[in-house]
Amino acid sequence: MKLERKFLLLVTGIFIFSSLIGWLVFKNMIDEINRDWSRQFVERQILFDRYRTFSPLIKEVALAKKLAAEPALIHMALHENDPLARRNGLAVLEKYRIRFSDHTYFAAFALSGHYFFNNAAGDYSGDELRYTLSQDHPADGWFYATMAQGQDFQINIAQDQHLNETRVWINALVRSGKEVVGVVGTGMKLSAFLSETVNLTQPGIHNFFIDDDLSIKLSSDTHLIDYASIAKMPDQRTTMNALLKPDDIKKLRQTLLQIKEGDSNDVANLWVQFDGRTFLLGVARLPGIGWYDLTLVDQKKLGLVKGFTYVPYAIGALFLMVLLVLGFALHQWILQPIMSLKKASDAIQGGHFEVMPPLVGEVEVGDLSRSFRHMVAFVRNTHRELEERVKERTEALHRLTEIDVLTGLLNRRGLMDRFDNELARLSRNGGSLGLLLLDLDHFKEVNDTYGHAAGDLALVESALVIERHNRPYDYAGRYGGEEFLVILPGCNNEDLTAIAERIRIAIAALKLEYEGRSFSFTTSIGMYHVQQPEPRDTMLSKTDKALYLAKVSGRNCVRLYEEKPA
Ligand code: GH3
Ligand code: MG
Ligand code: MG
Repeated sequence: MKLERKFLLLVTGIFIFSSLIGWLVFKNMIDEINRDWSRQFVERQILFDRYRTFSPLIKEVALAKKLAAEPALIHMALHENDPLARRNGLAVLEKYRIRFSDHTYFAAFALSGHYFFNNAAGDYSGDELRYTLSQDHPADGWFYATMAQGQDFQINIAQDQHLNETRVWINALVRSGKEVVGVVGTGMKLSAFLSETVNLTQPGIHNFFIDDDLSIKLSSDTHLIDYASIAKMPDQRTTMNALLKPDDIKKLRQTLLQIKEGDSNDVANLWVQFDGRTFLLGVARLPGIGWYDLTLVDQKKLGLVKGFTYVPYAIGALFLMVLLVLGFALHQWILQPIMSLKKASDAIQGGHFEVMPPLVGEVEVGDLSRSFRHMVAFVRNTHRELEERVKERTEALHRLTEIDVLTGLLNRRGLMDRFDNELARLSRNGGSLGLLLLDLDHFKEVNDTYGHAAGDLALVESALVIERHNRPYDYAGRYGGEEFLVILPGCNNEDLTAIAERIRIAIAALKLEYEGRSFSFTTSIGMYHVQQPEPRDTMLSKTDKALYLAKVSGRNCVRLYEEKPA
């Protein structure tokens, strides 16, 4: 994988990992804040709702209970036919009517079944006995049910058949000793009560008052109120079951139990589904009445920290930007300079030593490119030096192959090479060319008499003599065992003969010494001279013939090859 891709992949990995962790921590924090805030909000809301509803009710309940305990009233319940008792009882009722918030009272007595009532306007003053209750009359069921349940007081929201209006009835039991002798209390107009309590509409917030059986006692939605629940069978009641899911109902029941057993000021929270959405349900008890206040607050309304869904997108966009910038920087600062260095390196590797690597990048990469430049210059110089040295050595080797080891003169190959060159020059430029072929006389004897090493010495000395007599542009070489060939370009017949003679005399004059013994020897020389180039072998063979002539002429002499006249 390319470095750039690797790097970007690594950065992406690190980013995704850290932003995932960051996002989780962030979201967790937000959720925590929201949950905490929601709880506090719902707790405040429910305390507020409870206070709103509870305080008017509790005042009425206390007043009704006080009324129920009035001796004059108890007396009236037992002795209704006694005009004095009846008058005193009605006076007490009248006194409480003023004190009840609705300025309404009712009193129903078990013995007579009489129902007394007076309203705020005092419409029934002097005619307080409104009617007689009957067990056969369903509308009077509340009375018998309240009596039968035996609770000190009850709150019942019900339609008054006679008055034709729905009221919140506070029913307090009148007892004489242990015996229940009647029910007294007041009835507040539901509409007025609701407008002061649960009807304070706040969007996203719903408020219910329920009892232990989850019957809805009060609600801003009057259709949901379980009217006249006292006189109903449990399955006839309007309960929270209709509003919440079974699972939530189960949780709600558990919560009610916990609150009932705990401190009366406890407020509990639970998340429920309501109206197709998620709500936080706050639950508080209304002590003394036995009701519970339920406050449902829409989750959407609760979020303190909202609208942060853009955060992941923002982080993603930021990351993309960072990635782009990093990628660009990596490319500009590192990869591109390295690529151009690599290109130069490839070219140099391919033998293009003239390529100079570019100066690229900054700081460390810049240093690298400078070092690379120096290195290339060094390699280039070394390469040039090496090539020169190889050339020199090759030439030296080549020369060695043309030199005779013993005498230091050209060997036969070297001689033939020069001969060819001179022949070519002759045919190009014209002129003349002389050849001398020397053969030492009776050399076998020299070897035999003085030893092979002495023979070698004779060869070396003869070579020195030949060289000494050479002109600078002549070529002399060892042609065979004890035979020497001299090529003399641009040489006429006379000069050729003179040179040959001088060589012959100089060799004959040599006095050599080897291992204490001195010896001398002579040489025969064949000569050939041309104005026009001839084939090399023809010329050599003619020279050899001249040499032969010298040999047969008695040796130690010089002979020229001459064409026989045709
Ligand atoms: P001629 O006068 O007829 O030339 O008599 P020669 O004895 O010189 O006869 P030839 O030319 O046939 O003999 C050449 C001898 O030269 C044979 C060999 O022993 C000797 N010789 C050839 N090369 C070398 C060499 O490198 N060193 C020595 N010491 N002797 C050599
Ligand atoms: Mg010979
Ligand atoms: Mg010889």
